[in-house]
Amino acid sequence: MNNRKEVGPDADNDAEAYTRQCAYEYIEGLGRRREATYRVPPLECGCRDPWCHRCKPRPTKGYALAVEHLLAAGLSPWPDVQALREMWRADDRQRRIARTIAERWEVAA
Ligand SMILES: [Zn+2]
Repeated sequence: MNNRKEVGPDADNDAEAYTRQCAYEYIEGLGRRREATYRVPPLECGCRDPWCHRCKPRPTKGYALAVEHLLAAGLSPWPDVQALREMWRADDRQRRIARTIAERWEVAA
């Protein structure tokens, strides 16, 4: 039975070497990933790497339609501030709806 890795004098060195190797491979992987982002076209938002892309998709008309439906049913829709800002810019009707939601949730946009 060989317990050298667990109790021997080289156990710490082996662990350090393993950690160093893992870090080296991780950093090399990041470099390969960055190089790959230069080869693909950028996303619509301008991000080049979909892995770290955290941009929120632009609000769609679906939010406005869902909000109208929920208000008609007597419910208070969740205030998606960015979508409310889009509704504010759209027209007077959507602006009134956006104001109603913002007032109900006491959201300042
Ligand atoms: Zn993005």
